[in-house]
Amino acid sequence: MPYVPVLPRKSADLDDTAERRWQQIRRDRPELAPAVDLQKRLLTLVRSAATTLDGGRIPRLSLPPKYLAAKLARGVPALAGEPIPLPVPALTPILVDLCQALADGGAGDAAVHIRQAIESGAIEPGSLLTASLTRDQEAIRTGALHRGLAPDLVWLVAELAVSSYVHRLQRRLFDDVEDGALRAALDCWDRGHCPACGSWPAVAEVVSGHRTLRCSFCSSGWELPIYACIYCAHAAEQFVTAAPNEERKDRRIEVCGACRGYLKTIDVVELSPFPLLSISDIETTDLDLAAMEHGYQRPALKEFARR
Ligand SMILES: [Zn+2]
Ligand SMILES: [Zn+2]
Repeated sequence: MPYVPVLPRKSADLDDTAERRWQQIRRDRPELAPAVDLQKRLLTLVRSAATTLDGGRIPRLSLPPKYLAAKLARGVPALAGEPIPLPVPALTPILVDLCQALADGGAGDAAVHIRQAIESGAIEPGSLLTASLTRDQEAIRTGALHRGLAPDLVWLVAELAVSSYVHRLQRRLFDDVEDGALRAALDCWDRGHCPACGSWPAVAEVVSGHRTLRCSFCSSGWELPIYACIYCAHAAEQFVTAAPNEERKDRRIEVCGACRGYLKTIDVVELSPFPLLSISDIETTDLDLAAMEHGYQRPALKEFARR
């Protein structure tokens, strides 16, 4: 079953799991302690957005199952190109707080300037959040450069602010699907990009031999029917899985000589519940470095037709 629902957890349970994993990172790689502190603060804000949204702000999307099934069959993610209302007033304070957390956590003035641009109205929060939800990297980049702001940081702030919302949207669309056509389309999903939002996975989490791709934006999980490059589907000799550290075969990178893409792949006891997937990402920054040192990279987001 390619789409893999990742069940939500109780708040206390999330706290325990996150704390245990952060302590492990601090023990294994003390140099990451400042990054862990920042992540802790960012995830607290992401969770506060999730709590706010629990108050019933997730809309029922009028996307008929058969329409979604047809989209998926063409390789187009469910949310791509759809006009989706965003709870802008609820998410704007989170945007501001995220900027402040990043400013305090090392991004300094670059993050302060973004906060000021949001507070002064130079950046319209609704437009920014919508551009992130629709994965419009070009709009965010152009808007940031036009205002003298750091594009990657603007992208990150918006992505974090809207991640709780898009996570809820994807669960509403795909968990407990009753329609046969949509269920079949999800079961046939064989792409490397997320069936909900179209982003690439942050990592593949492997539980008991099942390699589940985990979306870097909405945290959805899906398992591919074949073992191949997730970006270009190359499966021959140029697609290689390697463990940079001989003693840690549980932490690997899949690299592809055909498209030069890479994917981090880690063995885990259980799939990371939202929003703890970013801990898997920070736990494996050494794998990113190893891949990049050998000339591999994560490709740009895929473009889908916008309405
Ligand atoms: Zn996604
Ligand atoms: Zn490839």
